[in-house]
Amino acid sequence: MNDLPKDAIPCLDKGFLRLVDSMGGDGAIVQAARVSYGKGTKKISQDRGLIRYLMRHRHTTPFEMVEFKFHAKMPIFVARQWVRHRTANINEYSLRYSEARDEFYIPNPEQIQFQSVLNKQGRSEEVPKDLKEKVQKYFKEISERSFQLYKEMNDEGVARELARAILPVNLYTEWYWKNDLHNLLHFIGLRSDSHAQYEIRVFSDAMGKFVKGIAPFAWEAYQDYVVKGLRFSNSEQNLLKQKLPNRVIDDLIEDITYSITATIYDNKNDVDLYPLYQKNGGKDEKSDFNLKWESGEIQKGNIRELSELREKLLMMKG
Ligand SMILES: Cc1cc2nc3c(=O)[nH]c(=O)nc-3n(C[C@H](O)[C@H](O)[C@H](O)COP(=O)(O)OP(=O)(O)OC[C@H]3O[C@@H](n4cnc5c(N)ncnc54)[C@H](O)[C@@H]3O)c2cc1C
Repeated sequence: MNDLPKDAIPCLDKGFLRLVDSMGGDGAIVQAARVSYGKGTKKISQDRGLIRYLMRHRHTTPFEMVEFKFHAKMPIFVARQWVRHRTANINEYSLRYSEARDEFYIPNPEQIQFQSVLNKQGRSEEVPKDLKEKVQKYFKEISERSFQLYKEMNDEGVARELARAILPVNLYTEWYWKNDLHNLLHFIGLRSDSHAQYEIRVFSDAMGKFVKGIAPFAWEAYQDYVVKGLRFSNSEQNLLKQKLPNRVIDDLIEDITYSITATIYDNKNDVDLYPLYQKNGGKDEKSDFNLKWESGEIQKGNIRELSELREKLLMMKG
């Protein structure tokens, strides 16, 4: 790859993504949230817990306090998908002002696949080697020929703003793109998804690497609650209510009660253990409680999150 700027992540055959600037990180999210919630948090673990709470409850504005400015070089057909994300600020290389460069995207053989039958917007299955070679040849031919004609028009003094219209959408363009973390995560959620086109996914994945470095707790929470989180529609919940036996739900609720007890006890172990368990909804006899407590199998967690899970499970009971 030619002219790869310092610290840029290479993307596709000639593109890249680099972080030009950023403002804030996890700290800025917590700082903004404090305005809503009054008291400040004191420990890193509390910052993490607060960020996870905000993400879980879709309290999104604190995430807008963090900004990222990227410099990206991508084919025009990728930029066309990218520009649909309306919340960003963009400044693009001008082909009215400057001459186009002879830089076109030529797909790698692995990316040349058949049209998917199941997904009308996707690819699937390998194509034979000779077809791959033909596709690459056609991409190269049209790129070279269109650029030749473009050059010729330029040399004869035709306005660049018109001559550029002859160039195909695999021509590379460049822009500065600035967005806040909330909308950036939304972008990554859509464009790093397996349904997104490969050629934009590589840029989105590169953005994810920068976000992970700058706001690791927010990134982790986004992965846990949004990317890997599951939501059930009303009809799906009704099906689960019908099919899940109550005893399974009760067992889960009981395990959560133990976890809540263990977590509270870990934080202030001057309280009486069994009454604490009962106060938190535990129903086991003391002897059973003692056996389970000593098994070493009780997992601690985040009390608020555990309580929310218990609420959800209670709602699932038919
Ligand atoms: C896999 C995939 C396939 C796609 N296929 C097509 C396609 O075939 N044809 C096509 O045209 N597009 C297609 N798109 C583009 C898609 O419809 C969206 O335009 C694009 O993903 C931007 O999403 P967004 O509007 O949520 O994002 P953004 O523009 O970044 O907006 C972020 C959020 O801000 C809010 N918002 C922003 N602007 C407004 C507004 N004016 N009014 C109200 N709320 C607003 C919305 O809540 C929005 O979700 C596709 C996208 C994906 C990921």
